[in-house]
Amino acid sequence: MKLQNFINGAFCDPIQKDWIDNYNPSTGAVYGSIPNSSQADVAAAYKAAAGAFPSWSSTTVEERSQLLSKISNLITAKLAILAKAEAKDNGKPLSLATAIDIPRAAANFQFFANAITQFSSEAHESLGKNAINFTLRQPIGVVGCISPWNLPLYLFTWKIAPAIAAGNCVVAKPSEVTPLTAYLLGEICQEAGLPNGVLNIVHGLGKTTGQAIVEHPQIKAISFTGGTQTGAHIARVAAPMFKKLSLELGGKNPNIIFADCDYEKMLDTTVRSSFANQGQICLCGSRIFVEQSIYTKFKKDFIQKVSELKVGNPFSENTNVGALVSKEHLAKVKSYINTSEEQGARVLFGGKEVSVKGCENGYYLSPTIIEVSTNDCVLNQEEIFGPVVTIMPFSTEKEVLQYANNVKYGLSATLWTNNLNRSMLFSKQLQAGIVWVNTWLLRDLRTPFGGMKESGVGREGGNEALRFFTEPKNVCIQY
Ligand code: NAD
Repeated sequence: MKLQNFINGAFCDPIQKDWIDNYNPSTGAVYGSIPNSSQADVAAAYKAAAGAFPSWSSTTVEERSQLLSKISNLITAKLAILAKAEAKDNGKPLSLATAIDIPRAAANFQFFANAITQFSSEAHESLGKNAINFTLRQPIGVVGCISPWNLPLYLFTWKIAPAIAAGNCVVAKPSEVTPLTAYLLGEICQEAGLPNGVLNIVHGLGKTTGQAIVEHPQIKAISFTGGTQTGAHIARVAAPMFKKLSLELGGKNPNIIFADCDYEKMLDTTVRSSFANQGQICLCGSRIFVEQSIYTKFKKDFIQKVSELKVGNPFSENTNVGALVSKEHLAKVKSYINTSEEQGARVLFGGKEVSVKGCENGYYLSPTIIEVSTNDCVLNQEEIFGPVVTIMPFSTEKEVLQYANNVKYGLSATLWTNNLNRSMLFSKQLQAGIVWVNTWLLRDLRTPFGGMKESGVGREGGNEALRFFTEPKNVCIQY
């Protein structure tokens, strides 16, 4: 299966005919190839986008909204095909792709189809000066969207939908590890009648294709989701060109459990927040801190629940934990687990590769619980991004706040307590872009989404995304 680039409304081979293999992580087999697009391919995608911009940016909001709705409906109509593609490409359970990834991709388009019709800007009357100021919010032009492999179509569309809703044209690159649903999105855009050049999808490695997008002098804004190191590199390349940047990066999120919480709900949710999508969600609560008085009970109950999770073929109905995304990623996650002993930590459960019948060459790892003795260890400071969590007891609010904040990341935090004062205190003091109290990953697409510290710069979601993808211009009229 050869996945081609989607440029100016048509599928095409890469100009230099350079292809890379695409793997199915659940079997370890190569099942296709994708272009490793060069600067020349990115230049062609830019040219198509720039050509489409004058007309696309002057379409009415209603026209754009209707087209986005159409794309959303087509994603919903093709849910089964897209979910299968995502499970095959990423290794995630088909049930998860069906329930979460693909519905959310449809919701992203529908949300911004609605949001753009309500998007407004401010006016300021300068009293005494006979002047009125208003803000024109104009599309930027051609923008670049670069996304990771963990939630492929979900995050790809989370960027593309607001960008085109706001009147921009896009050069987008999915992760080279999970290109399949992005390719299918090209077909959907054709079917929906999205004008040629509004969305252009180029495939390839980060260091070639991604780099060419970031370096392109006329691509004026980059919306990037991925690792912190890559984000820092992109910022260095983009800064001298004064590009607008939105960076959604890594996390090492605390999950703080107080004895006064709703215990059963906390336990079920903590299993999910630890191991959903094989722990490969930037929002997973990978550092679990438990109040001393319930620590022993929690440890026992958590291990019991986690031992009930079924690791298996993503296409089996009863699979809870599928395959990790790649051989390299599996090796990286295992290398962290293997340092446990030297860090004074103890593997309480899992930590081993799992052989799945019929899929012996797939990349399976059992969910892993590690008890750490300090928050300063590598296991608690570095993002592992796999089915691995650490647990550790705490005694006081002050102590656990220090643990939670003593990390370079600041993406999300989860707090379990029924004490209202404590909820407010922690919500204010936790250094994180998102705080969940007595829940996890409950998303309302109107809210600002993003991280503090090394988890990123800027916010996506709701009007934040529409603001990012527009240039605010102040117009002052004296009368
Ligand atoms: P990655 O940084 O390796 O790659 C992300 C994307 O950037 C890919 O498309 C890749 O090809 C591209 N890329 C790599 N080098 C590039 C370069 N030099 N120039 C331009 N593009 C380049 O990340 P990943 O391994 O695909 O994803 C996992 C990371 O993403 C984790 O750190 C995770 O926390 C993070 N993530 C963050 C969020 C969030 O919203 N904050 C969401 C999901 C994932």
